[in-house]
Amino acid sequence: MDRITFLKSLAMLPLATCNMKIQDFPKIMEQPAFAKATTGKMPVLFVGHGSPMNALEDNAFTRSLRKLGEQFKEEDKKPAAILVVSAHWLTRGSYVNIAPKPETIHDFGGFPQALFDAQYPAPGSPELAKETAKLSALIHETDDWGLDHGAWTILMHLFPEADVPVFQLSIDYYQPLQYHLDLAQQLDALREKGVLIIGSGNIVHNLRLSMERLRNGDTRPYDWAVEFDAWAKEKIASRDFQSLIAYEKAGEAGKLSVPTPDHYIPMLYSLGLAGEKEEIKQAYEEVTLGGISMRTFQVG
Ligand code: ZN
Repeated sequence: MDRITFLKSLAMLPLATCNMKIQDFPKIMEQPAFAKATTGKMPVLFVGHGSPMNALEDNAFTRSLRKLGEQFKEEDKKPAAILVVSAHWLTRGSYVNIAPKPETIHDFGGFPQALFDAQYPAPGSPELAKETAKLSALIHETDDWGLDHGAWTILMHLFPEADVPVFQLSIDYYQPLQYHLDLAQQLDALREKGVLIIGSGNIVHNLRLSMERLRNGDTRPYDWAVEFDAWAKEKIASRDFQSLIAYEKAGEAGKLSVPTPDHYIPMLYSLGLAGEKEEIKQAYEEVTLGGISMRTFQVG
């Protein structure tokens, strides 16, 4: 599938998300091949990415990402590669990006030039991406994607050196939520190979109502956003993933918090990978900009 086909499929989607506009694709720096085998099973992260401006900001959220990243600094803890499931790569079918040098995609509009100038020059990992495709017949290879802002804006804080290869798995936006929880379980072998899997979305993500409040200079979180975020936290703690899939049953708060599931689905990948006895540690919580939850957690 070429990029135009991807963009066409994106354009058809009912996104209540950032303005998906791919700008020019600058050439990225030549990077040395970087592969570091690690021992033990890699943890899994879910990161609430929020505004793309977080890439450039020093705030409580970005500082929490830097702190999370510290655990991977030592050579024997460094991931062999990072696989990101981002809310901003929605396709028909599940795709893994095998590009050796993924471009930094500036898939948003209306932000300062400095954000469009930002680059995350990490290499890809064609080898591990191809291995990912072998794990499930549902996953197809493509080299026609880069790193969208769901990936690079958080990686700039988690791995500021950009020295760990990164590849992405798309979200098949035409599948029911259970599909994603099930597909995640098939990715488990990657953790043994030292791949750090990161779901990047937002558990509560209602951009339209957030903008409405922000236009009036009001940054207080909506009650329904706080309520649903707390509900999700409880369901995560009690491992009631089936309730999370049936989030619409959480009443009006669920419907308002997840008007479209694009930012919610990455969480299902992170939870699908949680082993029965693995701890799920909350790493950051905040409902920001009215209706965006920045909740971030670690599995394992
Ligand atoms: Zn987003």
